[in-house]
Amino acid sequence: MGPGTAPPSRRGVRRSQTLGGLAGGFTDYASVRGGGTPFPGVLRGVCVSQSAQRCPGRYSISQSAPRTGTPSPTVPGAHPPAPTGPGRSGLFPAPWAAALPRRLGGAGGGAMDSPEVTFTLAYLVFAVCFVFTPTEFHSAGLTVQNLLSGWLGSEDAAFVPYHLRRTAATLLCHSLLPLGYYMGMCFAASEKRLYSPSQAPEAWQLFLLLAVTLPTIACSLTYNWSRDRWARHPLARTLALYALPQSGWRAVASSVNTEFRRIDKFATGAPGARVIVTDTWVMKVTTYRVHVAQQQDVHLTVTESQQHELSPDSNLPVQLLTIRVASASPAVQAFDIRLNSTEYGELCEKLRAPIRSAAHVVIRQSLSDLFLDTFASLVDANPAYSVPSSQELEACIGCMQTRASVKLVKTCQEAAEGECQQCYCRPMWCLICMGKWFASRQDPQRPDTWLASRVPCPTCRARFCILDVCAVR
Ligand SMILES: [Zn+2]
Ligand SMILES: [Zn+2]
Ligand SMILES: [Zn+2]
Repeated sequence: MGPGTAPPSRRGVRRSQTLGGLAGGFTDYASVRGGGTPFPGVLRGVCVSQSAQRCPGRYSISQSAPRTGTPSPTVPGAHPPAPTGPGRSGLFPAPWAAALPRRLGGAGGGAMDSPEVTFTLAYLVFAVCFVFTPTEFHSAGLTVQNLLSGWLGSEDAAFVPYHLRRTAATLLCHSLLPLGYYMGMCFAASEKRLYSPSQAPEAWQLFLLLAVTLPTIACSLTYNWSRDRWARHPLARTLALYALPQSGWRAVASSVNTEFRRIDKFATGAPGARVIVTDTWVMKVTTYRVHVAQQQDVHLTVTESQQHELSPDSNLPVQLLTIRVASASPAVQAFDIRLNSTEYGELCEKLRAPIRSAAHVVIRQSLSDLFLDTFASLVDANPAYSVPSSQELEACIGCMQTRASVKLVKTCQEAAEGECQQCYCRPMWCLICMGKWFASRQDPQRPDTWLASRVPCPTCRARFCILDVCAVR
């Protein structure tokens, strides 16, 4: 059923009332989707098929970057959309809001109420968060490392022994999750008689078999790893490759421990994929594994770069680099490390060998560098300026390398309105130089204000904003 196509049934209304807060939450959500939606132009019929940032009635540049969910900087001349259409205000529930809980419940109607569904959803969320540990779980201490910290010991005191135990414990704990679900379901769906497996439905018997098999495999694997005082663990085996003939992997391990304790090591990354570079070693610590390679026999290659407009935690544009760490010895498995391009310089300092870069990858280390891509994409969304045929485009007076390619035309607001002024200069600058000029006039401490700010034209000092930078055709 499409939203609003049919009036909500009496039953739907009653259910939404009994669900109280839940329905209220959906009501707000539904009304947000109606009026104050990120794409008001679509609702108002201003533009239908084009993306919102190309829409002639642009409201906000930040429409190009809402995917990070951060508060987006506002743009001069951006008017809030006039509320139109159904559900324009949070005070009045949208007509389809009452139908929402029923649709979520599925065809069964009352399915949402059953403890079995509730438990399944809750357990699923818990399991996913327990395995992938978002920041909230870390701060709440709900991680394997934290729960078993007494047995694991300290990472700083003994890096290798800590991770030998941590990887084994993590594997075991995660393998127990399906069994935990089965046991929870014994109580949540008592009518299925899951507590006596012989009477349980066949599908559940199969699930139980799987739930028991997983920890059994994990147990035998970790038991195998831990034999000979952990000598069979994959990490110990990798370290053994670097051991001198007269000493074992433990000598290598103690060298790694010592270097990890030093404060000048390079360490970065999320808990699930940490990158650690010490004087001799390049390491990547993941949930179930620790990759180790010796600096002197690895080749590092930047294989990929990804640019994100704004990062959720810092509100800055970020570039993420993927670096392949390949060892000269075929026995050591190659692995990828990922880091922010701003940390690249620090990494290079810590490494003895140079990092090669794939031809197509451009590493942007400073904020202004990162801003240029954003600037170019925003200018691209502005209307183009066509030069009179009598006029010849000259070389950019900033770099003298390329032809002038942008013209400042006040398009953000009506000619007489706002703080922007019309610039009457002919096209004199290329896009890159204009972007650099724009970035150079910004406060490096407040990148959230960059998009919304106005700067003077480099030639005539007429003030302009990003919406006024037009590409020359
Ligand atoms: Zn230039
Ligand atoms: Zn000018
Ligand atoms: Zn403007």
